[in-house]
Parts: sequence; C-alpha cells; structure tokens
Amino acid sequence: MNLLKNIMLSAGLLCQMALFAEIDPDKALLRLQEGNTRYMKDQSTCPDRAQIRREAVSSKQKPFATIVGCSDSRVSPEILFDQGIGDLFVVRVAGNVVGPVGLDSIDYSVIYLGSNLIVVLGHENCGAVKAVLDNTTKDIETIAKLIEPAIKDHHELPSAIKANVQQVVKLLKESPVISRLVNEKKLKVVGGYYNLVSGKVDFLE
Ligand SMILES: [Zn+2]
Repeated sequence: MNLLKNIMLSAGLLCQMALFAEIDPDKALLRLQEGNTRYMKDQSTCPDRAQIRREAVSSKQKPFATIVGCSDSRVSPEILFDQGIGDLFVVRVAGNVVGPVGLDSIDYSVIYLGSNLIVVLGHENCGAVKAVLDNTTKDIETIAKLIEPAIKDHHELPSAIKANVQQVVKLLKESPVISRLVNEKKLKVVGGYYNLVSGKVDFLE
C-alpha cells in the first residue's frame, strides 16, 4: 500500500489532489484554536450544519484537518473545536492509538482530501491509558499493546496520556506519505491534550 502511495506521490497526483488545499497547516491550527476558544467560553457558533452546507459538500469533501482522537463520548472533535460538516476528517479509537487500518485512513485524508494538519488528541482521564497504567487490560489487549511502549516510564495518568499522544505523533511522522509532506512543510502533525472540565485543548507542540 505504501508503495502505491509513493508511486502516486512521484506521479504528481498528490499535487493535483492535495497540495492546492486552500488552508495551510498554521492557518488550520489557528482555526481549530479559535473554535476551541469559542467552545470553552460557551460561545460555540455550531457553523456549517444546515441544509445549504450539506448540499455544498454532498459531492465532494475537503476537510481542513484530520483529528486522531479517542472514542470517549466526552471528546467529540466537531463539538470541542466548534466546526461543521465537512471540516474535520476524524479517526477515533479508544486511547487514540493508530494501527494499520487507522494509518490508511489518515493517509487517505492527506493524499486525497487535502488535509494539511493532523492533530493527535489525547484527553484528561482517558480510560484506555488508565487501564494500561493499572494493568487491567484483559478486554482491550490489542489497544493496550499499542499504548504500553509509550507509557512504560510513566506512573501518573496525565503524563502517560501525553506520552501516548507523542508516541502516535512520532509514529505518524514515520509514515512515508506523511514524513515527505512534513519535510516539505506542507503538512503538520501536532499533539493535543483536552481538559474535560475547562474544555481547553492544550497543544503539545
Ligand atoms: Zn480516552
């Protein structure tokens, strides 16, 4: 699969499909930060969720950011970043880990949809990371195996959650598709930590 992606990159297909995205990584990050600030202040505008938007994006999507988040019911990216339909490409799994299936989805958003920013979003009191810390992982063994290497030197939950985020950021930057675009400064991969009560996302880079 990676070979196919690299062939496409070389053929210039990526240029046509993704690099002409209208929003660069820094502007994408700013847009998320501004949306999160509105949400924190209980001033969400809930943009682009009406019929006109559904029609506009029905035949084509162009999300400006990819969010790799936890499945936790309290951490919905469109809500906490105050974004609308078609704005965010979201990959969610407990513990915000990335396996082969997730990586293909993320690569897809970058290559075909023109997303220029990837945010790996951990959150306060993450049950999946806590289960690994507490060694109570018998029902989430596949997820636990992905979290364990990141947190083996951590004993406190907040630092373990952030270490897990950083590990996923590192893993993504090692993807051939992503690393090339990062090196060309056309894509950014950043970590974030969501605070459950304040609603604030602290960006880790
Ligand atoms: Zn979680």
